Amino acid sequence: MGTDAVVVAAAVLLGLCVGSFLNVCILRLPRDQSLLRPRSTCPNCKQPIAWRDNIPLFSWLWLRGKCRWCHTPISGQYPLIEALVGILFGVSVLVYGPTLRAVSAALLGSILLGIAITDARHYIIPDEFTWGGLVIGLLLAVGGGVHGFLMALLGAAVGFVLVWVVGMAGTWVFKEDAMGGGDVKMMAMVGSFVGWQGVLLTVFAGAALGSLIFIPLSIKKKRLVPFGVFLAVGAVVTFVFGDAIIAWYGHFLKGD
Ligand SMILES: [Zn+2]
Repeated sequence: MGTDAVVVAAAVLLGLCVGSFLNVCILRLPRDQSLLRPRSTCPNCKQPIAWRDNIPLFSWLWLRGKCRWCHTPISGQYPLIEALVGILFGVSVLVYGPTLRAVSAALLGSILLGIAITDARHYIIPDEFTWGGLVIGLLLAVGGGVHGFLMALLGAAVGFVLVWVVGMAGTWVFKEDAMGGGDVKMMAMVGSFVGWQGVLLTVFAGAALGSLIFIPLSIKKKRLVPFGVFLAVGAVVTFVFGDAIIAWYGHFLKGD
């Protein structure tokens, strides 16, 4: 540890701003709206939200969760996501220090949070999260030299192909789309962050979690599976504990 308190505080503040941007993404991307225009307005009275009322977390607290003009309550989701991403950034720097790995943890976590929410709500995984995240993952991998970059590229390819094949097989067996194109692109993105072994672990963890939680639910009522939510949880587990789990499994296979 020993990371400066100032660095952690800066990371938290940056995370609050990223969380604020993530709120806009979660609201607008599933509706194919632009992230830049129009400016945010109150959904009730249509008053534009001034910058001083748009400061992450603090404005919501200051206005006690209500619009300044018409006093309509503003969803608690906004400050909640801002706070979550703020904590995510702070914890990333605390755990990994001021390193590229901390940047990866913070950005991957933010993207996965966005994917989990849009998939759970709309059964949509926006391309901006998947293709955009893939570009970020590959760029960060350049920090690991040529080898790091090639590993990220391999991870992305394995993620894409594996989930595409699983999806095709599922469609063939169940005669309906088991997994969407969003899941395929999502795992290409995840693969660029966690590598090809991490992809296998993520899909395994996601499938285990998904069947554990969803099969009991779907027996009662037939419903769509937001598989991206489970893959997102699997990806977090893999990013944090993947190296340890893969090392343990290697020893297990060798019998020592
Ligand atoms: Zn209003």
